[in-house]
Amino acid sequence: MAPDDDSFRLPLYCPLIVNGEEGKAASGRQFKRENPADVRQVATIAEQGTLEDARAAIDAARAAFDGNVDNWIYNYKLREQALFRTARLVRDNADRLARVVSLEVGMPMRQAVPHIAAAADIFDFYGGLAGKLYGESFTLPSGSTINLVKEPVGVVGMITPWNFPLTQTARKVAPAIAAGCTIVIKPASYTPAATYELVKLMHQTGLPKGVLNLVPGPGNIVGSEIITNKKVDKISFTGETSTGKMIGAQAGMEVKRVSLELGGKAPYVIFDDADVEAAARAAIFGMFRNAGQACGATTRLLIQEGIHDRFLGRVVELTRKIEVGHPSKPSTDMGPLISSSQERVVQDYIKIGLDAGFDLVTGGHKLSGDEYDHGYYVEPTIFDRVDNASKLGQEEIFGPVVAVTTFRDEDEAVELANAVDFGLVAGVWSADYPRAMRVARRIRAGTVWIWDNYAQPVEGIWGGYKQSGMGRELGYHGLNDFLEVKQIFTDGTGLAMKPPYKQVIKE
Ligand code: NAD
Repeated sequence: MAPDDDSFRLPLYCPLIVNGEEGKAASGRQFKRENPADVRQVATIAEQGTLEDARAAIDAARAAFDGNVDNWIYNYKLREQALFRTARLVRDNADRLARVVSLEVGMPMRQAVPHIAAAADIFDFYGGLAGKLYGESFTLPSGSTINLVKEPVGVVGMITPWNFPLTQTARKVAPAIAAGCTIVIKPASYTPAATYELVKLMHQTGLPKGVLNLVPGPGNIVGSEIITNKKVDKISFTGETSTGKMIGAQAGMEVKRVSLELGGKAPYVIFDDADVEAAARAAIFGMFRNAGQACGATTRLLIQEGIHDRFLGRVVELTRKIEVGHPSKPSTDMGPLISSSQERVVQDYIKIGLDAGFDLVTGGHKLSGDEYDHGYYVEPTIFDRVDNASKLGQEEIFGPVVAVTTFRDEDEAVELANAVDFGLVAGVWSADYPRAMRVARRIRAGTVWIWDNYAQPVEGIWGGYKQSGMGRELGYHGLNDFLEVKQIFTDGTGLAMKPPYKQVIKE
């Protein structure tokens, strides 16, 4: 069972936060989130937001923005302070936040703890940028000047996924606040408490009313209202590609700004001269962290023929040592899947792999007995000799199932790496740096790691090519996604009759 001491009573609770006030859903209804590691336990009870609640939150964010509440748009110090204070509060409450994330996601504590630290770093980074939104100025030969000023995009609707709830929320909220936007968040229904606990801490920093609103509830009601409501200027979405396509189309009808962080099918290209030990450890981390429920998870191992047996042998050896268990146990390497439906999806893909005749080299089963009987536990699974064009080679599984394919040479490696609809991340392993660099340039993905497999520094970027998304999070690029650039032209000639006017006025 998950920890349930005095400071951590279950179930957790997630209210609405509208205009700075915590409240209940207009319908009076609530929904439950079970503990995926032990479904006998209710992890969270959340208010089930309605259309009316979503509209009230949007109205609050709109009024805060249009009214420039507490000089929010221009007082960068207020925003800087909110971000730095949030970073500190997140660190001060790291233990509790890690337990909440671990409970709702099923993420092992050993992974939840660094996840919280990464979220705090994001708030610090954007706190440092809030006071550096310089514009540009240019004087023309006529003496007229052009001022390019950066302005917040306005009211931002954020729709977030469940797999890394704190960093996914921080990547949106922190730059949006640095930019001076106001916000409505709809959290994933698997992780309402994790999102609420972060938003609650942010309110302790003295945020003006209406700047940050939270409405838990169904995607097709609360999410849909946020997407279509004309008072929302921008949508920032992270989730499945199929949901993202629909959101992009709906936002397009209103010419609403939209950023989409979507699915992946990351290839890891291992050349004959790769450092087997380093590459194998990196692969294991990428494949099974958070039970493979990561958009940037290592899902396809593309191995050059000459190193196939040695490399895969080491990967399988390490995979068999992975301890699958309750996320709260310090020794657990991999926890349960998020839900019964995700467990079914993963088992279906395992069946697809077996039916296709691919070589199941390890795993492939649902775990049972003792604690396993009460949660969604599946073995880490690797299929060898997978046809890259098959379902297993093409579709995002979002679980601990990996496809191995061999290649002959550099051209074939690049061709296979790119032969999917996704383009989020990739990895290249070769001792020949010019070759690794060449391949990194040829792979169509938003991030390509050389000799690494999951680094996501806040100073860098995160985002997808192709059907993995539009826009970039993290770094300066992540801030630009929440800014508009305005030109203010000031005449410097003082002339009443300027030369172009002759095109219309004769004298
Ligand atoms: P999802 O698309 O099912 O849900 C994401 C969010 O959208 C949730 O809050 C959900 O309630 C909401 N939603 C669902 N239907 C909606 C609708 N019709 N209208 C409005 N909102 C709606 O995704 P998920 O299962 O929560 O997350 C897993 C997916 O997210 C995977 O595909 C993964 O690759 C992707 N992901 C991408 C990144 C990235 O940075 N590229 C990061 C994390 C996860």
